[in-house]
Amino acid sequence: MKEKQTIIYILSNQRSGSTLIENILSKSSQMVSIGESYLLGGHIQKTGPGGTWDWNCSCGSSMEICEFWKKVYQKLGVSDPMQIKNTQIDSPKGKEGANQKKINEEARSLMNQVYKAVFEITNCDVLVDSSKEAFYGTSLYQNSPFDFKFIYLKRDLRAVSISRDKWRKKYNKKDMSLLKLLASNYLHRLTCRSMLKNVKKEDVFHLKYEEFFKNPQQTLDDMSNFFGFDRYEVPEYMELNDDHTIAGTPNRFKRTKIQYDDRWHSVAKKHPLFNGLGYILNKLG
Ligand SMILES: [Zn+2]
Repeated sequence: MKEKQTIIYILSNQRSGSTLIENILSKSSQMVSIGESYLLGGHIQKTGPGGTWDWNCSCGSSMEICEFWKKVYQKLGVSDPMQIKNTQIDSPKGKEGANQKKINEEARSLMNQVYKAVFEITNCDVLVDSSKEAFYGTSLYQNSPFDFKFIYLKRDLRAVSISRDKWRKKYNKKDMSLLKLLASNYLHRLTCRSMLKNVKKEDVFHLKYEEFFKNPQQTLDDMSNFFGFDRYEVPEYMELNDDHTIAGTPNRFKRTKIQYDDRWHSVAKKHPLFNGLGYILNKLG
C-alpha cells in the first residue's frame, strides 16, 4: 500500500484519447477509474452531456441502480442519489462570482468525499479521473487531501479538429470550419498551459498521444515510475470489464484493438492551409 492515496487526473482536450488512457490504467488491479467525475452530478440528474447513452454508468445500469455507485452513495450518507446535484467547478465570473465560489466549494468538498468513498470500496490506492477540464482539475488539486497528480495529454491539433468535426456532424451540431476548430483547440491548449502554472512541475506527467503508440509499454512503464504503481503489461484491447465509469468517448462500448488511427492524415492533406497551420501550432506547444 502507498502512504497516501493517489489521484491521477487526466487533463486534455476532447477527442484526445483520454478514455483510452483511462481504460488502460483501469486494467491494473491497483487502480480504479471513475471516468469523468465532472459529469457525475449531470449523469445522476440526467442532464447535460451523456444523453446518447441515457446518462448510464458504463456498466449499463442507470446511476440510480448501479451497484458500485450505490455503495458510494451509502458511504456518503446519501439516501437518495438525486440529492447529488452538482459536481462541477467552474471559473467564477462577474456578478454571479460570489455565488459560484460557494457552489465550487461545495462541489470540491463533495468530490473529495466521493474519492475517499471509492478508495474505501475498492481497496485500490490509485484513482483515475478523466474529467479533462482544466479549471476543475486544478481546483481539486489545490490543498487536496490526496497525492493529486496530472497526466497532461496532448494530441495533434489537426487530428483533434478532424475528429471533433466528424462527431459534430454525427450529432447534427452547427457546422464549424476546420480552421475554426483548429483555433478553438489551440486556445484550449493555451488555457491548459496557463492553468498548469498553478501546479508544481513534478506533479505533471506530459503525454503525447502519438508518442504513446510508438512504444506503449515504455510509456506505461514511465507512468508506473512517475505515479508509483506496479508495472503491468499494456492490454491489447480497449474494453470495459467491470468498469463503472462516467462518460467518455461514445466508442468505448465496443471492444477495440489499441492501435494508432492515422485516418485523419488523408483528410488533412485535402486542406493545405489547415494542415500547414496545424503543423505550426503543434510546434508552438
Ligand atoms: Zn456501474
